[in-house]
Amino acid sequence: MTFIVPLNAGSDRPVPFIDLVPQFQSMSAEVMAVVERVFAEQKFIGGDEVVGLEEEIAAYCDSRFAVGCNSGTDALIIALQALDIGEGDEVITTPFSFFATASSICRAGATPVFVDIDPVTFNMDVEAVEDAITPHTKAIMPVHLFGQCCDMEPLWRLSQKYQLHIVEDACQAIGAEYQGRRAGVLGTVGCFSFFPTKNLGGAGDGGMMTTDDPELVPKLRRLRVHGDIGQYEHLDLGMNSRLDSLQAAVLRVKLKQLDNWTTARQANAQRYGTQFQQAGILDAITLPKIAHERRHVFNQYCIRVEDGRRDHVMQQLKAAKIGCAVYYPKPLHLQTCFKHLGYSQGQFPQAEAASRDILALPSYPELPIADQDRVIDTMVKICRELRQPARRAA
Ligand SMILES: *Cc1c(COP(=O)(O)O)cnc(C)c1O
Repeated sequence: MTFIVPLNAGSDRPVPFIDLVPQFQSMSAEVMAVVERVFAEQKFIGGDEVVGLEEEIAAYCDSRFAVGCNSGTDALIIALQALDIGEGDEVITTPFSFFATASSICRAGATPVFVDIDPVTFNMDVEAVEDAITPHTKAIMPVHLFGQCCDMEPLWRLSQKYQLHIVEDACQAIGAEYQGRRAGVLGTVGCFSFFPTKNLGGAGDGGMMTTDDPELVPKLRRLRVHGDIGQYEHLDLGMNSRLDSLQAAVLRVKLKQLDNWTTARQANAQRYGTQFQQAGILDAITLPKIAHERRHVFNQYCIRVEDGRRDHVMQQLKAAKIGCAVYYPKPLHLQTCFKHLGYSQGQFPQAEAASRDILALPSYPELPIADQDRVIDTMVKICRELRQPARRAA
């Protein structure tokens, strides 16, 4: 094997995009103690840990109820099914999100109807929703993308006017707030994911639904266990989507730290913003903006690199061994499996532009300052170099 030793060898230690190890190390004794307890009891399904987590998540999100399930994807499917949304129904959502936002609508038997996004927040363009409403529309599914709540007031008005449910895809947004209210209580049902890289991540898959509607709760509960109401009596065609006791136990330990981690994510975002501004590179990149009356929990810190230069910047970062990621490179309306929905390239220009421009930088809560400095210095260098050909041409 040949090693090419770079000139600045000392400073090119890899900076991972995300590293879950330090978080675990900071709490391994407590986590392993509850894991041991679950194993000692051998109660892997249901039980006190799941009920405990449901109560604690409800308290955290300020919802009356919370129902655990196996993933954020299942939470979305079960929420739609519980609202009797299926065959022949339409659900309005965003094409700029993780795949499960739209696939869950299809899995429930309904049809996703996309509207374009707001280029500043990357969330659904709420001004475009009313025009997408048809007699078949049953619900709106806003996504609180990257940890920032969608603008809900216009959606509340439409839900009143047209009798529509709102199912929040809050998978990236636990603890995010809109007008002082938490994600999860901004619609009929809120759906959360505990995938390991979410702000509250488990030791595997997990999910949760929140609601204030007591009549929905029994249905949400039974849909996660094959529609069973006991004695093998099945009221609906549900699924097997229980939350493991092991996951619940681990998540209860981690939930206690969530606000500290959120503060660290916000501090990382703040620091990137200040440093990029001071370095004078805001002509090359656009910083994420926190919209009015929001608590942004920064599941991702995403900048925009316009004029088709994102991939170049990404290559330069990778060459400097700095992790970065693109969420999401292909909007949902252009995915092969949604071809039958009949959308075409150019239909949602803002979502398509965001897919070309977006770039997520390392911002996990334990990101060492030295690593963040490396990201900042490298970004500043790349952006200054970007400028040079233009200057020469001038
Ligand atoms: C992660 C995520 C999901 C799906 O959650 P899983 O737990 O992985 O099934 C759905 N929507 C969005 C926006 C997500 O980020």
